[in-house]
Amino acid sequence: MEEIIKRAIEILRLGYVCDRCLGRQFAQLLTNTSNEVRGSALRRTVALMVDAKRDTFGIHPENFKGVELRWVKVPKTARTTKCFLCENSFEKIDSLVRRARRLLKNYEFWRFLVGTRPPTRLLEKEEELWERIGIEYCEPLKAELNREIGKKLELALKLEGRKVTVDRERPEVVLIFDLETGEIELNVNSLFIYGEYQKLKRGIPQTKWKRRIYKTSVQELIEKPILKATKGKKALFHGAGREDITARCLGWRPFVLEIKEPRRRKVDLKEMEKLINVGNFVKVRRLRFVDSSEVEKIKTADYLKSYRVLVKCGRTLTSDDLKRLQALVTIISQRTPTRVLRRRSDLVRKRKVYKLKARLVGRKHIELEITTDPGLYVKELVTGDDGRTKPSVAEVLGCECEVKELDVIAIHKKPIKGFRTEKKKS
Ligand SMILES: [Zn+2]
Repeated sequence: MEEIIKRAIEILRLGYVCDRCLGRQFAQLLTNTSNEVRGSALRRTVALMVDAKRDTFGIHPENFKGVELRWVKVPKTARTTKCFLCENSFEKIDSLVRRARRLLKNYEFWRFLVGTRPPTRLLEKEEELWERIGIEYCEPLKAELNREIGKKLELALKLEGRKVTVDRERPEVVLIFDLETGEIELNVNSLFIYGEYQKLKRGIPQTKWKRRIYKTSVQELIEKPILKATKGKKALFHGAGREDITARCLGWRPFVLEIKEPRRRKVDLKEMEKLINVGNFVKVRRLRFVDSSEVEKIKTADYLKSYRVLVKCGRTLTSDDLKRLQALVTIISQRTPTRVLRRRSDLVRKRKVYKLKARLVGRKHIELEITTDPGLYVKELVTGDDGRTKPSVAEVLGCECEVKELDVIAIHKKPIKGFRTEKKKS
């Protein structure tokens, strides 16, 4: 007991300290109470001792404000006092909360989080104090500020009829209060929507291009109604791989659409699906809200892919040629294609072809159905890319081959029976 009082006296000697800041140094003691109550109780206990011993123990006179000592005289103090630990930061909370409410007015959210930036000099003073009295029972200033602002803001928003709560794990908006400048930084977290798409027409890219060479993209067709409904600032498109601009994607490809700074979060995804599917270029299904971790899952997913490829060959083909193509059901060694060298590092990838079906569709045309590891460049599997892809259709047939049409026909979300995705040796 005496130890606690000694510590309290030591703090009270350093200068005027408010009840919150005094109590906060003992926040780990007692539960279901506030630092203000702890501080007030300590101040009065110390005052009792001061009066009993008729000695102020060198306590700063301002610390007796509001306490009438019977036996000890303390000098009169100024009307306003400034706590040396918080500089009366807690008095700013009401006006900060008012401004925060105005900032949040146009945003729909249910979970929020508060952070604060106290002035550096206050954090230094706190450190100095802890070095003197130890940190066994204390709570940082920042923690109390965060909590108090959070509580008051939550209450104020609830009184407006909004169903909000402080949530440390998955906040939709984060407010950072700078107590030095009074600035409030509002961070509106992205909204993530999972879905699967089909691209039914050739000639449009998956994502928006900076130089507007293409009229539209899969991304734009999908994001348009959703951006409008969520009033988001912009959208990012995360696809589970991508097909060539010239290829269709008839299999359903998973994606996550990330809406930046949405003002609305409650959006009818069934309705969105309908709006997107009105067009003939792109269809979507299975739209649902997900959290940000889904982006990583999508990006790293190892889905096997099946393609349909129409190949034009440099000579007339026979049914024997088709049989020879089974030699491609093996590990393909593929050096980064020349056409993507500018964007990708030059290295050799090993990718497996699991299954290949070939049929003649003309004297010089064959249609292939191939199932491969993700990351195999199918065009180069056909052309051989000047020997950079081995083996290849061109190599096996011993003639020039070119891709006339390419479609992704399936993206296998689950491993296919009997197939195993080899560990990539890239
Ligand atoms: Zn204080």
